[in-house]
Amino acid sequence: MSKQQATSQDFAAIQHHLAHDNHANRKAMLDFIANDPIYIPRYNNKLEFERELALQRLKKLADKGFISVFDFEKNPLNIFAAHEIAGMVDGSMGTKMTVQWNLFGGSVIKLGTERHRNLLPGVDNLHDIGCFALTELGYGNNAVEMETIAIYDDNKREFIINTPTPLAQKYWITNSAVHAKWSVVFAQTIIRGKNEGIHAILVRIREEDMKPSKGVVIEDMGVKFECNGVDNGKLWFKNVRVPVQNLLNRFSDIDENNNFSSVVKNRRDDVAI
Ligand SMILES: Cc1cc2nc3c(=O)[nH]c(=O)nc-3n(C[C@H](O)[C@H](O)[C@H](O)COP(=O)(O)OP(=O)(O)OC[C@H]3O[C@@H](n4cnc5c(N)ncnc54)[C@H](O)[C@@H]3O)c2cc1C
Repeated sequence: MSKQQATSQDFAAIQHHLAHDNHANRKAMLDFIANDPIYIPRYNNKLEFERELALQRLKKLADKGFISVFDFEKNPLNIFAAHEIAGMVDGSMGTKMTVQWNLFGGSVIKLGTERHRNLLPGVDNLHDIGCFALTELGYGNNAVEMETIAIYDDNKREFIINTPTPLAQKYWITNSAVHAKWSVVFAQTIIRGKNEGIHAILVRIREEDMKPSKGVVIEDMGVKFECNGVDNGKLWFKNVRVPVQNLLNRFSDIDENNNFSSVVKNRRDDVAI
């Protein structure tokens, strides 16, 4: 058998095969990154600079529309495609991307309903940067035992959210230390004295001037071993009130008579979304 030299067509064919899908968007994203000096690696940066750089790099990709929260409905594989390219370029930018479009935006579009969709354009253009507050200091992998509590006030039709103990502080929350205005907060949800399990509730954590919202305490987790462009923070809630409409209510809801209903029957069950 004769030896054959691999040709550039062969490499192109392998690349095409490995990329699997969304080839045009992947190529456009790679070309864009290759031609903008902001994506050239930078070392020995100050913490603040590293975080701003990750955000500005992400903002440029957002402005070009390489990823959209609406991809969850129209083209879910593009979410992965954009992550694969972003992850090759800057791990911090990739982490901020996944929290903004996947954990935060993905929760809003897939756990929320029509009444939450007004937030989605702000997810895509980064006007509304969000975070995903699941992990607590005492409850990482065992999140179902978390302590953050959301008590429903029937009269005002509001949730009152509290962090009852130090172990209940939301911990490691990406985007929360500096950039996020919104959080999807997971909390034990108490309605008429009964714990109805963990639900996801939209909570404003910073106002437009980026000052923390009333009752929200935010602590910066500072320098890490790696990925210092990711602004990780700790969150505490002190009697934070949010309207019932902020419940991401695709699977569990509270009607106009304050009756709760849910398709999730047991606290460790999941649902297909
Ligand atoms: C950079 C960074 C960003 C993050 N961003 C976010 C974010 O945006 N939002 C968010 O909610 N969280 C975030 N997290 C938190 C992350 O999701 C948690 O760290 C993760 O869920 C693990 O929780 P833990 O650190 O408390 O570890 P633990 O749950 O305490 O686990 C510690 C060790 O014990 C093992 N272990 C735990 N339970 C069991 C078990 N039952 N059986 C066997 N072994 C077990 C684990 O495998 C692990 O080795 C982030 C973390 C990091 C490091």
